[in-house]
Amino acid sequence: MGAFFYLSNFYGVQAQNNMIDLHTHTNASDGELSPEALLARAIDNGVSQLAITDHDTIAGYLSVRNQPVAQQLQLISGVEISTTWRGIGIHVVGLGFDVAHDAITACLQQQTQARAERATMILAKLAKANMPISLAEVEQLTQGRQIGRPHIAAVMVAKGYVNNSNQAFKKYLGAGKIGDIKSGWVTLAAAVEAITASGGVAVIAHPDHYQMTRTKLMALFDEFKADGGQAIEVISGRQPRSITEKYAHIAREKGFYASLGSDFHRPLSYGCEVGKLSALPSDLMPVWALFAGN
Ligand code: AMP
Ligand code: MN
Ligand code: MN
Ligand code: MN
Repeated sequence: MGAFFYLSNFYGVQAQNNMIDLHTHTNASDGELSPEALLARAIDNGVSQLAITDHDTIAGYLSVRNQPVAQQLQLISGVEISTTWRGIGIHVVGLGFDVAHDAITACLQQQTQARAERATMILAKLAKANMPISLAEVEQLTQGRQIGRPHIAAVMVAKGYVNNSNQAFKKYLGAGKIGDIKSGWVTLAAAVEAITASGGVAVIAHPDHYQMTRTKLMALFDEFKADGGQAIEVISGRQPRSITEKYAHIAREKGFYASLGSDFHRPLSYGCEVGKLSALPSDLMPVWALFAGN
């Protein structure tokens, strides 16, 4: 895969002086870096506009937003909410909302509780499969922060139940496996409502990850729009040009604003680096037009 492949399969990269990344994680959820370290990395990479979108928590964002380092770029409030739509897990990113608003606060409280309850249920399933793990062992890792399957996977690796996190997902925690427990999440409509009522923009995260038929995907977009959803991630991490074109087309057709984000969790040689994204096709309505000046 040489330079030619890269050039022909991806849009040009974002301009060095205007790099935007609206989907990133910190160790407030399942990211590896502290919020401070993520900010420093983003600034180092030349990012001018950043959203920290941890899973169902804004604790990471809150811990850095008033620090001097956060004044070196435009930091937008963000979160990635796990929702259920027709029995499918759909992730909705919220951007530019009022973090003190009751609607988003109540939603994230409910999600945090759902995560804690789900963790207990997953551990019960694992214990039945001869892989006992206590909640305390997981909490030693999360230290009061948002619990996710990656934390449980890490304990499974540490206890020698699996060789690595990927294997933990593949055999036990991923879609259709014993640890794939779909209960407790807010509905898609409720998440959109909580975000928009709080003055934010709701965005369908990584639309190409759901393995849905085209008909179902279109139904998702239509319902999301009817619920008040305004944007979709046209670019999620490093993706082939054909995928960008697919979602750009849908954004135009359905009148969605376009968002983009790395979904950065940790530095990886093969992963997507904070801010290092292709540029959005220039005719799309960028989602940041909606919260400029915030
Ligand atoms: P949860 O938020 O607890 O539902 O866990 C989902 C998170 O697990 C995603 O946001 C990813 O960061 C991570 N994840 C999903 N699939 C895998 C996988 N196959 N291997 C490692 N991590 C994964
Ligand atoms: Mn994650
Ligand atoms: Mn996600
Ligand atoms: Mn994410």
